[in-house]
Amino acid sequence: MLPQTSHERAARLRELIGRYDHEYYVLDAPSVSDAEYDGLFRELQRLEHDDPSLVVADSPTQRVSGAASAAFAPVRHSVPMLSLANALDDDEVRAFDRRVRDRLHELALPADALAYAMEPKYDGLAIELRYEDGALARAATRGDGSTGEDVTANVRTIRAVPLRLPDFAPPVLEVRGEVLLFRRDFARINERQRAAGEREFVNPRNAAAGSLRQLDPSITARRPLRFFAYGLGETEGVGLPDTQAKLLDWLARTGFPVSAERALARDVEGLLAFHRALLERRPQLPYDIDGVVYKVDRRDWQEAIGTVARAPRFAIAHKFPAEEAISELLDIEVQVGRTGKLTPVARLRPVFVGGVTVASATLHNEDEIRRKDLLIGDQVVVRRAGDVIPEVVRALVERRDEASPRRAFRMPTRCPVCDSAVVREEGEADTRCVAGLYCPAQRKQALLHFAQRRAMDIDGLGERIVEQLVDSGRVRTPADLYALDVSTLAALERMGEKSAANLVASIDRSRHTSFARFLFALGIRHVGEEVARVLATRYGDFDALLDEDWSALAVTKATVQKENVRRRARGEAPQPVPLEGIGPEIVGSVQRFLGEAHNREAVEALLAAGIEWPRGMTADAPNDDAGKAVQRASALAGRTFVVTGTLPTLSREQAHEWIRRHGGSVASSVSRKTDFVVAGEAAGSKLARAHELGVPVLDEATLLRMAAPGTEN
Ligand code: NAD
Repeated sequence: MLPQTSHERAARLRELIGRYDHEYYVLDAPSVSDAEYDGLFRELQRLEHDDPSLVVADSPTQRVSGAASAAFAPVRHSVPMLSLANALDDDEVRAFDRRVRDRLHELALPADALAYAMEPKYDGLAIELRYEDGALARAATRGDGSTGEDVTANVRTIRAVPLRLPDFAPPVLEVRGEVLLFRRDFARINERQRAAGEREFVNPRNAAAGSLRQLDPSITARRPLRFFAYGLGETEGVGLPDTQAKLLDWLARTGFPVSAERALARDVEGLLAFHRALLERRPQLPYDIDGVVYKVDRRDWQEAIGTVARAPRFAIAHKFPAEEAISELLDIEVQVGRTGKLTPVARLRPVFVGGVTVASATLHNEDEIRRKDLLIGDQVVVRRAGDVIPEVVRALVERRDEASPRRAFRMPTRCPVCDSAVVREEGEADTRCVAGLYCPAQRKQALLHFAQRRAMDIDGLGERIVEQLVDSGRVRTPADLYALDVSTLAALERMGEKSAANLVASIDRSRHTSFARFLFALGIRHVGEEVARVLATRYGDFDALLDEDWSALAVTKATVQKENVRRRARGEAPQPVPLEGIGPEIVGSVQRFLGEAHNREAVEALLAAGIEWPRGMTADAPNDDAGKAVQRASALAGRTFVVTGTLPTLSREQAHEWIRRHGGSVASSVSRKTDFVVAGEAAGSKLARAHELGVPVLDEATLLRMAAPGTEN
C-alpha cells in the first residue's frame, strides 16, 4: 500500500469516524471499541493541529457527534448540548489545569481561589428535561448538539424522572443528565433478548440508548432506565446556586437523582486522588462509569472561560482505562486440568485492557466457542472489568474477509498431554481425558491441589517444582513427596540448599493435619472443602468412611426427610438429617473413588508416610507407647489451651481431643494461666480477654503444626 498523505489520511479518518458515529449514535450498534474510536479521533485531532489547513467545517473534531433520527420529532436546544474533552493520563489533567489557570489570569480572575467540582462520568446517554411551570414539558436527546430527538413519551416512563417539581422551581428549567441502565438490569434485559431470539446489546450504554430511542414507549416502560442529573440548559427566573457543587445539591433537593460520588478539589493532586479512589470503587458501583468529570466550580467563571467548537473549556473528562479492547485470536490451545477437563484457552495478541496487558483468556468449553462463533484469526472484543478474569466477548464477524483466512477450532480427540482417549458425556459441556493420574498434566494438577494452603498446606511446592518433579519421574503420587530429601530437591532448577531444606521441613509438617483437609487434598471429584468438612465430622477417619453402607444411608436419609415433613406439619422441630446437603452425586463420586484399588493404595501409601490427624472424637488422651512418644516430642505438652470460635476444619471436640492427644490440656475460660488461645471465626469475648491478658492467639493451622516434633516457636 502506498503511504497516504496527511490529506488523504485525514479524509479517511473523517469517513471512518463518520461511519462509527452513525453506528453508535443512530443504530445503537457500534462495531469498534471506544478505545479504537478514541484512537482514530485523536489521530485526526493531531493531524489537524499540525496542519490547520486540514480542518474542514464538517470535521468530527469541529462539532458534537451524533445525529437526530428522523423517526422522532426534532427539538432545537436553546443552549447547545456539548461533548467533553478528555484526558487519558495525569499529564493531560495537569495540562488542563494549567490552561484553566492561564485563562483565569488572562481574565484577571484570582486563580488562587479556583476550585473544581468532581463527579462520575456516567456511561449512558445525555438527555435534557424541560420543565415549564414545574411540569415536565419535553425531553430530548443530545442529537448533534443543536438538534435532538423528542423522546418525551419514553422519558415519562422513567421512574427516576420527576414529572412535577416543587413550588420553588423556576418557571422554565432545563435539567441535563444521563440516562443509563444498572448492570444487573442490563444482564436481565439481555437474558430476555436471548430467550426471545432477539439481538443482544453490546453493553449497558447501548442497551440504554436502544431502550430510550424506541418508537413504542411501552417497550421503554419495560426497561428499568435510570437517570442522574449533572447540569442545566436554559433557565428563566432567579435564585439558582452559583457553583456546580451547590447546583447538584439543589437539584437533589428539587427531586432529581444525583450521584453521591462527588467532591471538591483545589489542585491537581486533589483531582488525581478522586480519580484513583473512584477507579477503585468502580466495580462496586451498580452502573458503568467511564471516568470522572472535573468542572470549574464557579458557574460565572465557567461562563467566562467559555467553550470551543464541541466542548466546554472549563471541564474535562478524565477517562478510566477501557474495560474492552480489540485484539486478535491468534490460536486456541487446550489445557488439561486436575480432573482431566480439557479447557480451550484463547491466545491473544497482547492488548491493554482494564489496566493490565492480557495475552490469554479461558474459553471454558467447546460449546462456548460455538455460541460465540469464534474462529482462529478473528478480531475479537476482549473484556476485563475490575479484578474479574478477562474474557473474549465476541468476534467482529463483520471484519472477516477472504484475504485473511480463518480456521474453526476442533476439540482434540486425544489428550494433548498424554495421548489417551478423551470423552464428552451425553448432556455434559466438558470433554475429559480418561487417563486420570496416568496423565502427567492431571498428576501435576493433583499434586498442586494436594499441596495448596487449604489442603495439606505445603509451603514452597509451586508449579515449577512440581513440573520438574513429575517430568523427571521422581514424583508420581502425593505419597512420593514424603520420600523427597534435601539433596534431590536442591538439584532442581532454581532451588538452593536452603529452600530445599525449607521445603522438606514443610512437607514434614504437613503430616500433621485434620481429616477434613486430607479428604479435600485427595481431590475426589465434587468433594470441595465444605463437603470434606461434613464428611470428616461424621466419619472422623478413613476406616469409618470405607465401612459406610451407602445404600443403607440413602434409605435412612429418605426416612428422616419424610419424618421431618410430618414433624414440620405438626409444628415440631425436625431431626438432623445425616450428611445434610450431600446428595447422591457426591456420594457416588466418593464411592467410585474408594472403589478403585489404586486410590485405596494411594491413601494407604500416604498413611504409611506418616499422615495423621486426631481420630475418634471421644477418646481420651492416648496412653499407648506411640501416644506417649508423640506427647514427649510435642510443643503442646504441658500447655493449657482455650479453643474459641468456629475453626475451619476441626470441630470443638476434635480440637480438644487433638490438644489432649499431644499432651496439652484444655480449659474453658481464659486466665493468666492459659498458654494459648486457639481462635476461629466469630470468636468473641474469650479472644478479647486473650488480647487483654497478652495470651498468644493461634489459628487452627498453627495448632496442628505445633504438634509436629521440633516446630516449637
Ligand atoms: P463523551 O461521552 O466522551 O462525553 C460527553 C458526554 O459525557 C456528555 O454528552 C454527557 O452525556 C456525558 N456525561 C457523563 N457524565 C457527565 C457529567 N458528570 N457531567 C457532564 N457530562 C457527563 O462524548 P461523546 O461525544 O458523547 O462521545 C464520544 C465518545 O463516545 C467517544 O470518546 C467514544 O468513546 C464513544 N464513541 C464510540 C463509538 C464507537 O463506534 N465505539 C462511536 C462514537 C463515539
